[in-house]
Amino acid sequence: MSKKSTARRRPAKKSAARATTRTTKKSSSRGAGKATARKVARASAAKTAKKTAKKTTKKTAKKTATKTAKKQTTRKTATKPAARGASRRSAEPAVFHFGRLRTDGTGTMKELLGGKGANLAEMSVIGLPVPPGFTITTEQCRRYDEGGGVMPEGLMDHVRTHVAMLERETGKIFGDASNPLLVSVRSGAAVSMPGMMDTVLNLGLTDRGVDGLAAAMGDERFPLDAYRRLINMFGDVVMGVPHHAFEAEFDRVKRALGVTLDTEVPAAGLQQVVDAYKRVYREHVGRPFPQDPYEQLQHAIEAVFRSWNAPRAISYRRINEISGLVGTAVNVQTMVFGNLGDDSGTGVAFTRDPSTGRNVFYGEFLVNAQGEDVVAGIRTPRPVAEMKRWDAKAHRRLLEIKDLLEAHYREMQDIEFTIERGELYMLQTRTGKRTGAAAVRIAVDMVEEKLIDRREALRRIPAEDLTQLLLPSFTAESKQGVPVIATGLPASPGAATGRPAFTAEEAVQRTQAGEQVLLVRNETSPEDVDGMHHAVGILTSTGGMTSHAAVVARGWGKCCVVGAGALSIDAKKRAFTVGSKRYTHKDLISIDGSTGEVLEGEVERRSPKLSGDFATVMQWADEVRTLRVRTNADTPADAKRARDFGAEGIGLTRTEHMFFEPDRITAMRRMILAESRPDREAALAELLPFQREDFVGILTAMKGLPVTIRLLDPPLHEFLPHEAEAQRDVAKAIGTTPAKVKQRVRVLHEANPMLGHRGCRLAITYPEILEMQVRAIAEATIRCRTKRIDARPEIMIPLTGTRREMEILRERTLQTIAQVKAEAKFAGALDIPVGTMIEIPRAALVADRIAEVADFFSFGTNDLTQLSFGYSRDDVNGFLPDYLDQEVLEKDPFQSIDVEGTGQLVRIASERGRKTNRELKLGICGEHGGDPASIRFFREVGLDYVSCSPFRVPIARLVAAQCELG
Ligand code: ADP
Ligand code: MG
Ligand code: MG
Repeated sequence: MSKKSTARRRPAKKSAARATTRTTKKSSSRGAGKATARKVARASAAKTAKKTAKKTTKKTAKKTATKTAKKQTTRKTATKPAARGASRRSAEPAVFHFGRLRTDGTGTMKELLGGKGANLAEMSVIGLPVPPGFTITTEQCRRYDEGGGVMPEGLMDHVRTHVAMLERETGKIFGDASNPLLVSVRSGAAVSMPGMMDTVLNLGLTDRGVDGLAAAMGDERFPLDAYRRLINMFGDVVMGVPHHAFEAEFDRVKRALGVTLDTEVPAAGLQQVVDAYKRVYREHVGRPFPQDPYEQLQHAIEAVFRSWNAPRAISYRRINEISGLVGTAVNVQTMVFGNLGDDSGTGVAFTRDPSTGRNVFYGEFLVNAQGEDVVAGIRTPRPVAEMKRWDAKAHRRLLEIKDLLEAHYREMQDIEFTIERGELYMLQTRTGKRTGAAAVRIAVDMVEEKLIDRREALRRIPAEDLTQLLLPSFTAESKQGVPVIATGLPASPGAATGRPAFTAEEAVQRTQAGEQVLLVRNETSPEDVDGMHHAVGILTSTGGMTSHAAVVARGWGKCCVVGAGALSIDAKKRAFTVGSKRYTHKDLISIDGSTGEVLEGEVERRSPKLSGDFATVMQWADEVRTLRVRTNADTPADAKRARDFGAEGIGLTRTEHMFFEPDRITAMRRMILAESRPDREAALAELLPFQREDFVGILTAMKGLPVTIRLLDPPLHEFLPHEAEAQRDVAKAIGTTPAKVKQRVRVLHEANPMLGHRGCRLAITYPEILEMQVRAIAEATIRCRTKRIDARPEIMIPLTGTRREMEILRERTLQTIAQVKAEAKFAGALDIPVGTMIEIPRAALVADRIAEVADFFSFGTNDLTQLSFGYSRDDVNGFLPDYLDQEVLEKDPFQSIDVEGTGQLVRIASERGRKTNRELKLGICGEHGGDPASIRFFREVGLDYVSCSPFRVPIARLVAAQCELG
């Protein structure tokens, strides 16, 4: 906890966007050898970008899931701020009550009451045992912020009215000497942010109250313990007194008494602690600890308001791309005590297993403890199943409430409860965060249980979270022979290998330096989120399935093992020991988030299969969706994987990589270096059989489904080396002089290759290249068909900008096909569609003309984005982070289609193209084909299919279905 206060003073952390794009930049500059290397560089940049895309789009998805509704409200606010503010102020109360006497709010009022407040109201309404309280609206937080940190006028008067109501309901008096009303002050925004904002418990207790309570209870220890907790929490959270200043005093008293556990300190000792705490408080704050409970309350309310803009709250919102919220609500709630003795306790639970989704009640509890002790991960709690033996009645009641809640919300809930002397109270419920696997399983189960229908099930699964089910994992086989060092709790599935980092800062730094690190800590707390986010996995030695580390990791779908008690961590020495073995920041460690195992060294990861509930969900999605999903695949292996994931064809097969293979690159270079057409044709003839085999392979893997093959796209010099030595080797290999090679490289050099001699322009200059490729496709098709393999190629011309280009090249293509057909005396039909990529803005504008000579369009949104913005895709990371930071752009247009601009080109081209060619098939094959927000847009524009990387196919299928569900 001591870190909390320092964290608050730390400057805002770097944005995740900046951090991730940095990585991208680094890897793209790694390929050093200029032009040839540019190709490699681009490929590796693309890979990293894809990785980054995955991360970022995931957030985007989450954001869109939680935010769409909010955004609408925000937009409304933006258009009519004054009017809305005014009407709110007059129409809406500043404070909403919940309790047996009266409940003003409902569960639907999350915007205004925050998630916590809305659900406390909802639980009160349906008759659950919720300690009474009231919620100060998010609107008041906004007013506090806008007023520059001044309590909104009249707010404290409302608060007093509601406290009076609580007094009536509980029979206790706020600030009373003998029977004081104690409350908690809890933050809660519309979107749950685990641990982001601080709660103060036992508020309202004063010197007088402690004495009175002690007399009334006949117990001195409890009131003193409650009081020292209050002074500590209030001092730390509200007044910014460093936690360790309190902790040091507690330790001193314990040492003096010769005890180690807090619970062993007798009342007299606690009195010393309280006195010391008051002294610490006074030293740091400059005033004594307030004895007026309303003063305490007002300070606490303001602290919650302020915590909305604390760096760690801002950091969390940024990482999770949460925006458009006005502020946090403040909940003031009557205290119930789980620390009144062995008949009291506290716990947290999920109505189903948040890790696997299994329909089992999943929770943890601690006897004789106050709420925070569970979440803080300081004591490792017991599984809730053991509660039966401890207090059967409370356990039964809890199970009843669990069923009630699920039936009411029709959704998995994450709850907090406290048992005060055998009496169960509900302190919180919210939709439970879960892993991708759990989301799928719960959705399917709830359909079977008739809680929800299939459409709702599809709607609820965050498409992006499916990536977790597609991630490679350790298998029993791959783990065989690898020593298991320790076993903790399987907090969040996945498989991660990395080297330990022992602080969040270290995890961030080493990750940015390109290392894969595991964050290894005793426990995590909110200020560690940046480090947790960067690490490939999280491992803790204490805490349960509901500890901070577990909850946050699950929310992100990050591999996490908690409570691996065998680990003894020495963060200062950057090492941990297990028994006699020692591991340092240099050792590779693997963690299995599905089993809780911690393993020594690296473990091989295997790709998953699409089966079980996942397959069921996919089938439901297929029944609903109209948008088709293809894949981008260059090899039969990729094609097959995508097919297993449900791809309905290939939207893009690139042919250039095929020429880089060692057995062909020489022929390719000979072709490029040829000085006459016959020489060039001779070299191409060498390449032909290789190409044909490539196509036979891929057409066979995708039999029965369309395969769009793109003709050669990159500029020729990408195939030639630029260093003298490599040029000498090439010269030798093809029997020419190094000078000739050098000369050719010079001739082919372009100042701006992306805008240079590439795409269809190559085919205009060197028709024989096109002819060879088309011949290979046609021959491969005939070869397949004669073997009764239903090959369905489609030929795609890249980078068309004018109708004339397309006209000429289509003609050449069709002629070549006809020629091959005649030569082979093939009797069947060989109707291979010939279409083009639309990736040049001009092509989009003259799409009506181009469509007259094209069977299909496939939007190459990478180039289209590049050319519509005028941003070089390879260099954009030089300024994109600033653009995102300063909100010049809302998101990276290479990851999520820029609907406003680039999207317009897609729309125009679709409309104009279809006007002149009704049969025109429309698809998209850029990176955007796997991005949920972009997919929604493409569906809206009316494309026939999206094409994305194999691993994103299931995501695209689900999003396509969600498009139809509204
Ligand atoms: P968070 O959002 O971090 O979970 P909470 O406001 O839920 O913060 O509170 C932190 C802990 O304090 C929780 O365990 C909660 O159950 C407990 N708590 C909050 N209010 C009360 C209360 N009125 N009585 C008893 N425990 C409480
Ligand atoms: Mg809580
Ligand atoms: Mg392109």
